[in-house]
Amino acid sequence: MTDLRKDIRNIAIIAHVDHGKTTLVDQLLRQSGTFRENEQVDERAMDTNDIEKERGITILAKNTAVKYHDTRINILDTPGHADFGGEVERIMKMVDGVLLVVDAYEGCMPQTRFVLKKALEQNLTPVVVVNKIDRDMARPSEVVDEVLDLFIELGANEDQIDFPVVYASAINGTASEDPEKQDEDMDVIFRMISDNVPVPFDNSDEPFQFQIAMLDYNDYLGRIGVGRVFRGTLRTGDHAALVKLDGTVKKFRISKMFGFFGLKKEEISEAKAGDLVAISGVEDIMVGETMCPVDHQEALPVLRIDEPTLQMT
Ligand code: GDP
Repeated sequence: MTDLRKDIRNIAIIAHVDHGKTTLVDQLLRQSGTFRENEQVDERAMDTNDIEKERGITILAKNTAVKYHDTRINILDTPGHADFGGEVERIMKMVDGVLLVVDAYEGCMPQTRFVLKKALEQNLTPVVVVNKIDRDMARPSEVVDEVLDLFIELGANEDQIDFPVVYASAINGTASEDPEKQDEDMDVIFRMISDNVPVPFDNSDEPFQFQIAMLDYNDYLGRIGVGRVFRGTLRTGDHAALVKLDGTVKKFRISKMFGFFGLKKEEISEAKAGDLVAISGVEDIMVGETMCPVDHQEALPVLRIDEPTLQMT
């Protein structure tokens, strides 16, 4: 029998711009109590990047994690913009499920289609969140029909077409499976994620494989590689081989690893199959490269890179 990591779920949140991703993640953070008491969500959770502020759109992926009972839900934000198709694709490869957020009035928009297509291509079954149900002009049933049409048009398989739906008002922090009423919390969203998103395999005894899906940068730590542990267990202090994109290998020692907690990174000493983590201290680390044990070098298929690496500003 294969072991499973029942303690985690990895999801991406996808939507057309302004349909409420940021507001929804803020509420999930608040309601999961991932913030300590008296700690405030001063800044909007995922919207801190300057370029985003300038352009008013969400470009770069942000990672956060919330706790629901004993389950850690890792949430990756995605850029909705078509210029970042490569990044969206890489994020879809790191997760096991997606939350598709659609405005209850506007319905499906061009970026809804774009990000949904990427999710369906990766065989992910979305949980659909019809958001802004509080709007006067909200037309939730029609919007669900539109979403279904879009799934069919994009060639969704049977499982995908059978998507669960939640009606929500992210701004009020309410949600329900019934469009006519709202519960005073978003418990149903946590539950749907927990029940519908596949649980990663626990093959943490095997030789590790960690692939860098995105880069982050910090003045103090320098370049940071963020990705998913696809197999095995990484421990700080371990020797590792980084298989570069040109096939050459660079040996190094894992010095600093971070997990995500709320909006922050927390230093960790061990990361297991299924975990999404960040690693610093590896010079020139690039998207698509694989880390593995020195005596078991096996790179994962390289992920396509077809957009500018804006993270490195
Ligand atoms: P994002 O671009 O998907 O991250 O969208 P935001 O979370 O930034 O939300 C865009 C706008 O919609 C903001 O002005 C939010 O306050 C508003 N908004 C988000 N959720 C709701 C909601 O449930 N109801 C209403 N009426 N407005 C919302």
